[in-house]
Amino acid sequence: MQRFPRFSAFSLMFLLAGCVAGPPPTAPDPTRPWIGETYRSHAVSVSHPLAARAALDMLNDGGGAVDAAIAAQMVMTLVEPQSSGIGGGGFLIRFDGRTSRIETYDGRETAPASARQDMFLDARGGPIPYRDAILGGRAVGVPGVVRMLEMAHKDHGRLPWARLFQPAIRLARDGFPISERLARQIAGDRHLRKMPVTKAYFFDGEAPKPAGTILNNPDLADTLSIIAEQGADAFYSGDLARAMAEAVTNAPVHPAVMTLADISAYQAKKRPAVCAPYRDYKVCGMGPPSSGGLAVAQTLGLLNHFPLAATGPVSARALHLIAEAERLAFADRAAYVGDGDFVAVPAQGMVDPGYLAERAKLIDPHKAMDGLIDPGHPPGAEAAYLGPDDPLKGLSTAHMSIADRFGNAISFTTTVESAFGARLMVRGFLLNNELTDFSFRPEWRGKPAPNRVAPGKRPRSSMSPTIVLDRDGQFKMAVGSPGGSRIIGYTARAVLGVLAWNLDMQGAVDLPHVMNRGGATEVEEDLIPAIADLKAMGHQVEVGRMISGLQGILRTRDGLTGGADRRREGVVMGDGGR
Ligand code: GLU
Repeated sequence: MQRFPRFSAFSLMFLLAGCVAGPPPTAPDPTRPWIGETYRSHAVSVSHPLAARAALDMLNDGGGAVDAAIAAQMVMTLVEPQSSGIGGGGFLIRFDGRTSRIETYDGRETAPASARQDMFLDARGGPIPYRDAILGGRAVGVPGVVRMLEMAHKDHGRLPWARLFQPAIRLARDGFPISERLARQIAGDRHLRKMPVTKAYFFDGEAPKPAGTILNNPDLADTLSIIAEQGADAFYSGDLARAMAEAVTNAPVHPAVMTLADISAYQAKKRPAVCAPYRDYKVCGMGPPSSGGLAVAQTLGLLNHFPLAATGPVSARALHLIAEAERLAFADRAAYVGDGDFVAVPAQGMVDPGYLAERAKLIDPHKAMDGLIDPGHPPGAEAAYLGPDDPLKGLSTAHMSIADRFGNAISFTTTVESAFGARLMVRGFLLNNELTDFSFRPEWRGKPAPNRVAPGKRPRSSMSPTIVLDRDGQFKMAVGSPGGSRIIGYTARAVLGVLAWNLDMQGAVDLPHVMNRGGATEVEEDLIPAIADLKAMGHQVEVGRMISGLQGILRTRDGLTGGADRRREGVVMGDGGR
């Protein structure tokens, strides 16, 4: 085992990624050289420095944003396997610099034919504990990311498909240093050691591999080479598909049936974008099966009725308004959102300006709402269900935002669900446990939950890849975050940072978080000074660590600027700067 005693794994990755050419004298933080930088041509904000480097290389070579995203995703499969990878799913939204159109791609995992609506219930009909549900074969959905990226590449790729895999294949063969975050997560995970193949990769005997260890993954190099040469079909059929089906069916924990037919039937889908106005801007996101675009749009649409810009971003008044708007958005989310191919989601109605104006009247600028909020009745809604709350989670998933030299931009959130997914490793990559995003209870208060399990269905997501357009319909900002159902609040907060308070991208990403998902109002420690006022308004307040991973690119008059969340390892890189 090789160790690097002098550098932290994180600064080492920067050096490897070649983005620290020698710190400029004025830079307050040499590991964050993008702060204060403006890029003229193209820029990337990606959750890991080595993945960012791969994305930037593609853009420097004349590639477009989609090419860069694919290269980054393949590297992330290797270097940030706890968060995302080819064994998972994601949502990508793209702004076209030529037509100004927004397209959204759905690469969400799909339940196999064997899935049953009671699969996460115990013998007495209650939900099984989340910590048990996340493990092994039963939780695995058919991965969607590879098919989705292939679809986006067929539509918009500029570089050859195989070229996009080269950085990841090279790193998988040569090895990469385990980052501090990855090392912490390996050491802190109670489940990895239950799966022999996974344990052998992340452990030396019984000892978790520490930060700085150079990790090689020749199996992944082979897998990526096959997909690079033969295309996504080689992932969804043949040897690789067989290996995935076997890993699920013979899983050491909770084996389940996933067939070759399940895998080969997988389809990526283009969905209508969900867009809503905020001030002079248009905020666009991902529709069902994600709840993210709708919840972010509703939150901003409700806040549009209040003079948020006149309040400071950490004032109790602003925090109160944000929490109340989110409370309403989460009530609708629970009631109406599931896979739109299975349930009628009143998506248009939920962002209808008239509807949101009515809902906004429920917000008292001085007093928090009491108790559980009923969902509204948006136009087109057939019936309101009440869904159970999501389990609390959010340590995996990753986001990237990319703007290319052609004026295109993408916002892409990608996940294996909880950290290390189902903990099942096959051919060098981890399989997701996305099926735990379904409602464990098929019914709630006697009504079917819109997000109940069904064969072929996609579990509801909170992922909120967002693109904001300015009043001329031109690209303004791409942003998104990991964080389970908190993704919605993290993303809305960063969008507000720029649009309501005129912060730069980094300033918006750095804002301390506030959110309300239907219960207590959650705040980060930096907001403690506002707590007394929030309590006086009737909020029940919880203080905690809220580990977002916001990655954003903002277009300003001078060019492109970026923000990367200091709570994780992401970075911003771009063409040489000014
Ligand atoms: N699987 C979650 C979702 O799609 C994201 C998980 C996370 O961020 O930890 O909403």
